[in-house]
Amino acid sequence: MDLPVKALDEPGFAMSELRKIKIGISSCLLGRKVRYDGGHKRDRTVTGVLSRYFEFVPVCPEADSGLGVPREPVHLVRPVDGTIRVLGVNDPRIDVTAALTGFSHSRMSGLTAIRGYIVKSKSPSCGLIRVPIHTARGASKSTGRGLFTSILMETFPLLPVVEEGNLPDPVFRENFLERVRVYDRWRTMLESGLTVPGLIEFHERHEPLIGSRNPAACRKLQRKVSRLRPEDLEASADSYGIELMNALDRNQSREVS
Ligand code: SF4
Repeated sequence: MDLPVKALDEPGFAMSELRKIKIGISSCLLGRKVRYDGGHKRDRTVTGVLSRYFEFVPVCPEADSGLGVPREPVHLVRPVDGTIRVLGVNDPRIDVTAALTGFSHSRMSGLTAIRGYIVKSKSPSCGLIRVPIHTARGASKSTGRGLFTSILMETFPLLPVVEEGNLPDPVFRENFLERVRVYDRWRTMLESGLTVPGLIEFHERHEPLIGSRNPAACRKLQRKVSRLRPEDLEASADSYGIELMNALDRNQSREVS
């Protein structure tokens, strides 16, 4: 049974606009056999209803960085010096931190067109929140974010990101789709050339949505827009974008633990 996707059915939301949206995704969620054991984690919501609307851009940081399939399973480890590493679960002498970090940074230039990202939960590479961080002795005492997803969110700080495990929850799913749609329009406006009238028009178009989600933030954004000056337009747009996406993020997906 398909899950309803209300955020994609709002009046005035042209399907042609939606079909162009590219979404990054952990490859294993599409059913690709890239996991350490040669398996996959095909996700029914992703390969079902969402695949009709989005063009997926799959990335498996571990397989794509040359670690191979199958491979030694890895996890996050915080040694005594405090720097988090990605080490072999069975053989801690295997350290893939540099390979994963180098690949992740180099992959970012190919992701500038994406407008959202669906990541595999709990993965030391792809997880968004609460990924276990082990001590050198093997105990799991804290949690954090997967290495690839950390670099992704540093590179694209406004990008909507969600874990696949939250997609069956209608609140998480609808909020993610809503943020993807707004972020797509935001980026499209910036790429077509930022102007004072353009930013005012953008705000007026989205004011009812922002107001319904976060009235206080909406009033703040309205004040910001009413004081726009051409000489500091870029700085104003930067802070507008941050406050806009924070106001719409009901899942607070940028929390790490
Ligand atoms: Fe690859 Fe990420 Fe899936 Fe692991 S969770 S198999 S690194 S895509």
